[in-house]
Amino acid sequence: MTSIHALPAFADNYLWTLVHDGGAVVVDPGDAAVVQRFLDDEGLRLEAILVTHHHADHVGGLAELRARWHVPVYGPRAEAARIPQLSVLLDDGDTVEAGGSRYKVLAVPGHTLGHIAYHDAEARRLFCGDTLFSAGCGRLFEGTPAQMQQSLQRLAALPDATAVHCTHEYTLANLAFAMAVEPHNPALQTRLAEARAQRAAGRPTLPSTIGDEKRYNPFLRAAVPAVRSAAELHAGEALANDGAVFAALRRWKDGFRS
Ligand code: ZN
Ligand code: FE
Repeated sequence: MTSIHALPAFADNYLWTLVHDGGAVVVDPGDAAVVQRFLDDEGLRLEAILVTHHHADHVGGLAELRARWHVPVYGPRAEAARIPQLSVLLDDGDTVEAGGSRYKVLAVPGHTLGHIAYHDAEARRLFCGDTLFSAGCGRLFEGTPAQMQQSLQRLAALPDATAVHCTHEYTLANLAFAMAVEPHNPALQTRLAEARAQRAAGRPTLPSTIGDEKRYNPFLRAAVPAVRSAAELHAGEALANDGAVFAALRRWKDGFRS
């Protein structure tokens, strides 16, 4: 039996922590103190750390946790030079066994060039860092729109029931943008009401599911005519293909203030 916990950190991060048989596996521990407090409170030992990419809010707690726990730290080989605490370097297609779960590694460049995601097919869980967010996607700090769209399409191809554990509570802001793109999408309206209720009750809006994201996330919906029309209207020009629609959506969102 594995339980999963969203440990809040910084302004809007969740440090996803899986607990199994008295051991814990944490994903992207940006803040060591948050993780250590949870381990102390629950009487758990740390077993392993999974890292998706090199940004400080994802790796800031590695040195302190590693010094205390001497556990394997899994992360992207492509970013090893920027994450010196990694002890197991991963490439696309690799498998990780940690905390009683088995993960397939997916390369999902875009937000950063070496960004990876971890997929547990049996438990139907995805840890996707800052690639896919609920109703949104990560900013393109290093990659191109085409890379990010391809990465998102890989994630969208996972089974609909897959739970999406992204790092940030950006859902309401993302939904405000999604409503500007596709105001008449009933799945989006439903999700907005649900997310508002969740936040009002102090609960995370996450995880969502791949099936749900395909129904309301504009960045997975570039092929939908209403999304294309909105992107073309905002860009002020005809867009040649889904890739151009995606790039226009990402630019639009970069400048969007709700
Ligand atoms: Zn990031
Ligand atoms: Fe982040």
